Amino acid sequence: MDVTDKLRAEVEAREGDLVALTQELIRMPTLNPPGALYRDICDYLDRRLLKAGFETQLIRAEGAIGDSNTYPRWNIVARREGKCAGECVHFNSHIDVVEAGHGWTVDPFGGALKDGRVYGRGACDMKGGLAASIIAAEVFIDLCPDYAGAIEISGTADEESGGFGGVAYLAEQGFYKRVDHVIIPEPLNKDRICLGHRGVWWAEIETKGEIAHGSMPFLGDCAVRHMGAVMQEMETSLFPALALKRTDMPVVPEGAKQSTLNINSVHGGEPEQDVSYSGLPAPCVPDRCRMVIDRRFLIEEDIGDVEQEMRDVLESVRAERPGFDYDIRELHRVLPTMTERDAPVVGAVAGAIGQVFDREADYVVSPGTYDQKHIDRIGRLKNCIAYGPGILDLAHKPDEYVGVEDMVQSAQVMVLALHELLE
Ligand SMILES: [Zn+2]
Repeated sequence: MDVTDKLRAEVEAREGDLVALTQELIRMPTLNPPGALYRDICDYLDRRLLKAGFETQLIRAEGAIGDSNTYPRWNIVARREGKCAGECVHFNSHIDVVEAGHGWTVDPFGGALKDGRVYGRGACDMKGGLAASIIAAEVFIDLCPDYAGAIEISGTADEESGGFGGVAYLAEQGFYKRVDHVIIPEPLNKDRICLGHRGVWWAEIETKGEIAHGSMPFLGDCAVRHMGAVMQEMETSLFPALALKRTDMPVVPEGAKQSTLNINSVHGGEPEQDVSYSGLPAPCVPDRCRMVIDRRFLIEEDIGDVEQEMRDVLESVRAERPGFDYDIRELHRVLPTMTERDAPVVGAVAGAIGQVFDREADYVVSPGTYDQKHIDRIGRLKNCIAYGPGILDLAHKPDEYVGVEDMVQSAQVMVLALHELLE
């Protein structure tokens, strides 16, 4: 048996350990919001990784968005040095999970094992991936103790709410300066490499009017009607234009291979849910209407153009409507990122997928963002991918699960990638 066969066989032999580890992680409801039990799960990972010879650091993202004494944003970074100098491979997993929601037929925090699947909130997104990376690292350390370089495993807070108290904080503290390769075990399917994600531009548009008595609307100026004109202009000019903007990024699913825009909310007139709301309508012409938009853009697009395109819509409404006035404010922006296919971490994982599945890896780009954005922008590290077990479509759904075989095979891919990069 050559060493890669031994590594694969050893991962398979530790299937029971992999399942138990995943179950124990699921049994800690690290819900976000509010950001519960972060310290507990970091302590648990700390004990596990110390045993495997890692040096560990628990880092609280003090002062980050979301951090409080009630719900402190704890992260763990563990590093194990090899025999001699070399490159550093870093596995990053988020420790938080979204709410369970309704519709479960099993306990969302029970970690039930049924028909070769482990069930629970976070099973695929992404405690199964975290467990797979830990098993891969432990197997590699045991079988190839003389490796060069270093292995790092991080468990980070708040990915589900933007990652500011997690990967963004670590990147700001310089943790990624000593890292060469990053693998994020998000559930992108065991034979696919996710190279990056589209960009995000969130903005709030406000149209302005003038309040008057509802029985004499001609004495006021209805901000909701102005917003209606904005929406009409979006329908006739903007949405068709976005549909024509196609990307060469391998975004999945197919519908996300173009620019998209979602209208997250529209609100005008009296508050719907206000402490003072009596349930009775007030006869007033609304003088303000607000819309929040979520524009997802492509690597081929410039964020300045994305913004200008929205302003052009508003200006063409202004040209048609006397008295039309508006404000537009940016709420949030994330630039698109895509790692090159010839990057070393991509080559190592693609080679490993070829060995484990006897077929070529698929390359994908995520429609939404994840923590790679912070590693790219703040950490200035381009050699980063998402690769991990589990089916993306199950994330955040009731009866979320991760397949045991998927986890084992994915851990095999990870251990072979470690061998390729560090041996
Ligand atoms: Zn995730």
